[in-house]
Amino acid sequence: MANKGWDEFEIGAMLRSFDGKIDECSAFTPQRDRNYSQNNSHVASVADWRLIKPVFNKDYCIDCQFCWIYCPDVSIISRDKKLIGVDMDHCKGCGICVEVCPTNPKSLLMFPEQADEETELANWPAKDEEK
Ligand code: SF4
Ligand code: SF4
Repeated sequence: MANKGWDEFEIGAMLRSFDGKIDECSAFTPQRDRNYSQNNSHVASVADWRLIKPVFNKDYCIDCQFCWIYCPDVSIISRDKKLIGVDMDHCKGCGICVEVCPTNPKSLLMFPEQADEETELANWPAKDEEK
């Protein structure tokens, strides 16, 4: 099947990121490779677009999957209902995952792109007692 150009889709058309059912590529399946559809730009890295990046601290994560549901770029990677990290080739650094994370302290925080992950994890903020 020939690939469509971006200007050949009908207005309002839904472009699926994955082939098959959503639960075959989601947090709720055993570990497997993602089954990207031809509409998906998974081969194009957007890592250079980012000025800030999310860092994940698994010590506080309750695996609620909010970040996975709300990430507009399907960049949260989850397996067996466990968040395992962020796809940094496709994350654009919008920070939505941090906004929706319900833990205290948050399990995802945004840092400058150049920040050292190990250093930021070692200096993670403590619980905010006023929340
Ligand atoms: S910063 Fe934005 S694009 Fe990156 S993982 Fe979080 S929600 Fe997704
Ligand atoms: S929103 Fe926060 S607590 Fe929930 S899975 Fe994502 S990182 Fe973990």
